[in-house]
Amino acid sequence: MPPSMSTDWPTRLAARAQGRRTAGLWRRRTVQPTDAVRDFAGNDYLGLARDPRLAEAMAEGARCHGAGARASHLVSGHLAVHEALEARLAALTGRPRALLFSTGYMANLGTLQALCDGETRVFQDRLNHASLLDGAALAGAPSRRFHHGDLADLDRLLARSPADAPRLVVSDGVFSMDGDVADIAGLAETARRHGAWLMVDDAHGLGVLGEVGDGCVGRAHGIDAVPVLVGTLGKALGTAGAFVAGSHELIEHLIQFARPYVYTSAQPPGVAAATLRALELLAAEPERRARLGARIACFRREAATLGLPLAESHTPIQPLVLGESHRVMAWAARLAERGLLVGAIREPTVPRGQARLRITLSAAHTEADLDALLEGLAACQAHDADRQEVTT
Ligand SMILES: *Cc1c(COP(=O)(O)O)cnc(C)c1O
Repeated sequence: MPPSMSTDWPTRLAARAQGRRTAGLWRRRTVQPTDAVRDFAGNDYLGLARDPRLAEAMAEGARCHGAGARASHLVSGHLAVHEALEARLAALTGRPRALLFSTGYMANLGTLQALCDGETRVFQDRLNHASLLDGAALAGAPSRRFHHGDLADLDRLLARSPADAPRLVVSDGVFSMDGDVADIAGLAETARRHGAWLMVDDAHGLGVLGEVGDGCVGRAHGIDAVPVLVGTLGKALGTAGAFVAGSHELIEHLIQFARPYVYTSAQPPGVAAATLRALELLAAEPERRARLGARIACFRREAATLGLPLAESHTPIQPLVLGESHRVMAWAARLAERGLLVGAIREPTVPRGQARLRITLSAAHTEADLDALLEGLAACQAHDADRQEVTT
């Protein structure tokens, strides 16, 4: 009997670990110093996470309401600060209502679990976030995956599905490992043609894209086009948590049926207070978004000059697809020696052969930060070119 099929738990764990190690895919956490690194791996696109005004709002929220909410939203944990935040998020995204969740992962699990069952057909972009795939699986709803961004493929899958099944199309707004933006109007049109609903997870668009940082869906695409909108607070807004925005009926449905909403403690009030402050700063300091746009344009211009393998992304997520995972790990290590932190993304997060550095830009980066990054990347490239000469 192979060890992976053993009934002995330590044997099973050892077999799984061995498999991952031999594949060269063992994952490690490193404790990050709070300063002294240039962080090009995080999702703090507007530089709000370390703004002292958010820390102050968080402390004040905790002083007023307590460090924790003490209960779930349906029991006694739903406070005025949560209610105010939900109203602000609904207004930002141009929806009648919004509902807070503790994390984006839970928002997606809860929404899909509450909307879907074994009858429902779910259609997902190939590159959707893991939480969207897990949510449909939790609901016991079969997911069909269409080719990335391919509306014709989606149309074909929808046409082939049984006409009497409720259908839900699900897409990331900004794809988290590629940085490209979904064609929201195209998805909405295709979904509508087949009587399907569209759910968009705009985790990386909220705060960054849109006229006022309302994301790639936001006010431009109302609830008729995108009935189910998910946003997260732990990225551009710099705090933690997430929300679903939509009609009164959708939000009431989630309150009744979304188990990851019902059976968990409410968001700590300090987090809600800090998020309200972040939304104020988003509106009051549009120069953050302008600075981010300038950093993205500058990075792309300079990286193109160096001949780096840039992806077609105009968001703060700028992947360099290097191919083999050992090459990505080597580049990341060499950059780390220079105090530059970038994401090294390998399978199973991205398909095999598409391992990449996931470089993220932020309004908090200075021009000197960007120069250091570009110098580091040029050094990695020169090192690879030297090795090529030695081996050929
Ligand atoms: C980060 C992310 C999530 C999860 O959000 P958390 O609040 O970190 O749990 C969900 N969807 C997408 C597309 C994400 O990038």
